[in-house]
Amino acid sequence: MRLRDTPEEQAFRAELRAWLADVLPTLPEEPPHDDWPARRAYDTGWQRRLFEAGYAGISWPKEHGGRGATPTEELIFLEETERAGAPYVGCNFVSTLHAGPTIIAEGTPEQQARYLPPILRGDHVWCQGFSEPGAGSDLASLRTRAVRDGDHYVVTGQKIWTSHAQVADYCELLVRTDPDAPKHEGITWLIMPMDSPGITIRPIRTLTGVSEFSEMFLDEVRIPVENVVGAENDGWRVAMVTFGFERGTAFVSELLGSMRLLTDLVEIAKMTPVDAGTAWDDPGLRRELALIGAELEAEWALTKRNVSRAERHGTAGVGGSVFKLAYHETRERMGQVALRLLDRAALALGDPGGVSPRRIDHVEQTLYALSLSIAAGTAQIQRNIVGERLLGLPKER
Ligand SMILES: Cc1cc2nc3c(=O)[nH]c(=O)nc-3n(C[C@H](O)[C@H](O)[C@H](O)COP(=O)(O)OP(=O)(O)OC[C@H]3O[C@@H](n4cnc5c(N)ncnc54)[C@H](O)[C@@H]3O)c2cc1C
Repeated sequence: MRLRDTPEEQAFRAELRAWLADVLPTLPEEPPHDDWPARRAYDTGWQRRLFEAGYAGISWPKEHGGRGATPTEELIFLEETERAGAPYVGCNFVSTLHAGPTIIAEGTPEQQARYLPPILRGDHVWCQGFSEPGAGSDLASLRTRAVRDGDHYVVTGQKIWTSHAQVADYCELLVRTDPDAPKHEGITWLIMPMDSPGITIRPIRTLTGVSEFSEMFLDEVRIPVENVVGAENDGWRVAMVTFGFERGTAFVSELLGSMRLLTDLVEIAKMTPVDAGTAWDDPGLRRELALIGAELEAEWALTKRNVSRAERHGTAGVGGSVFKLAYHETRERMGQVALRLLDRAALALGDPGGVSPRRIDHVEQTLYALSLSIAAGTAQIQRNIVGERLLGLPKER
């Protein structure tokens, strides 16, 4: 495990820090949480700035327009952008972090030339149509059917939890092309243009009151055969390539953001009157917050270990699952402490009157943290992975 920056990495960090200091004050104000067209414009605007400065597709290979950064440089990029308060990847999550990389790994040269440049420039937003009402953890049992008709597939079925579907231009879609084959062998990975006739998007309102994801109904949607990535019926293997990218560095910005939330919580404790003093006078609370701080530091060290491993072996291995399990448990505990500290102000989302926006942020973040045990593979599925691949326990039947 390597903890110190090399001279090249130091230079990269310094150059990035200087650029962030210049560009961040020129950004427009962040739009409201649930104004998706405005959020799309904001997120793609940031992607455009990254592109113009040479930071788009930070870990993408240079021949595909990326920066070709090493995993450590990517970590530095995530660390510096988060610490400077730069925008999160937002609506560009799917396109830049896993659809684009999957097309680089598995797409044809024509697909690469057509789809990759607009992703890097922030012109196109993608979504992920994998999960279905009856296929989440057991994704291979998906039932959305694609029937070949000349040089098109005719696709009918339902997807769910499709993040950013309402503002996406393309969807990475898993469909069943051979219903008679064993379930892992009849699946195909398709690129679906979101303006195709037959697509109905129905936004789902989450606990925090925003419609981040949607149900997506597909009624005889015609998708050209040339939009297959990989080969027909080889989609399960291609999906595993996508997951390899999706579960890579996806939670690094999250972790750094949590460190900021913890510092803020300490400040709130110091300002919260209790009896003649403040909440911070309570040694029990201080111990709880210190423990959470230590855990976040340990998870940051684990991230660096995973990145060092990825540099040597090409993948973080089971380390990604270990990290995700530990991290979501820390976040849940931090949420419980936050709600206790906020007391009555924790009972409402939004401003019940006279409550500072920083406190409202903690309520939202605590509710949001519940999704960390589900998104990108549930906690139980991560435990199965750790049990089988790291601890050598018997395989699940
Ligand atoms: C914020 C967020 C964003 C998302 N965005 C997208 C997206 O853009 N596109 C997309 O396709 N999907 C998306 N998802 C869906 C996500 O991938 C699924 O929710 C997840 O895979 C779990 O599937 P499920 O909800 O069907 O739960 P289920 O698979 O039905 O699981 C229900 C419960 O059973 C447990 N369980 C299931 N199987 C096992 C097992 N073998 N061993 C032990 N326990 C088990 C699970 O851990 C869970 O507790 C998103 C989810 C969230 C929370």
